[in-house]
Amino acid sequence: MAVTRRKFLKLAGAGALCLTLSQLGFDLTEAKAYVAALKIEGAKEVHSVCPFCAVCCQIIAHVKDGRLVSTEGDPDFPVNQGTLCAKGAALFTMYTGKHRLTKPMYRAPYSSSWVEKDWDWTFRQIARRMKNARDKDFIRTDSQGRTVNRLESVFSMGTSHASNEECAVIHQALKGLGVIHQDHQART
Ligand code: SF4
Repeated sequence: MAVTRRKFLKLAGAGALCLTLSQLGFDLTEAKAYVAALKIEGAKEVHSVCPFCAVCCQIIAHVKDGRLVSTEGDPDFPVNQGTLCAKGAALFTMYTGKHRLTKPMYRAPYSSSWVEKDWDWTFRQIARRMKNARDKDFIRTDSQGRTVNRLESVFSMGTSHASNEECAVIHQALKGLGVIHQDHQART
């Protein structure tokens, strides 16, 4: 079995501690019960990437009974070597945070308040407004007659709360519609 840095540290730490304590005559039954009760005990380790910036620190997500129970930096990944900045360290709250929006919120033009909308209404609005914008503003050729097929009146701002895969799909869909003005909060 290949022993990674992470496994080595785990084995060395656990082994040395247990050996020392048991040699000193401590009863480890209670400690073992505590370890068994840890939330990551028996959890599956899934490797993923922090989505918050272009450094792409690797994380280990612990999944138990189909639910994410913890995230931490991956000590074996050469870029971050187990460390995470404050944003990456708070990654778990991206999944659990009670302030995270789970439904579309709409603010009408000139309004100062947000209203919750359902997905059907939201998708219809997006489709209608995109169609209107393309009908009105789509540019087929530039001033020298070269084909450009672009839509300059629509701007898309991405979010690091979307996964890399979701961002790739959004980017491709918008490019297909001719939207060239796209940016992302996590690009630097
Ligand atoms: S936000 Fe922080 S933890 Fe996440 S990839 Fe960037 S530097 Fe790494």
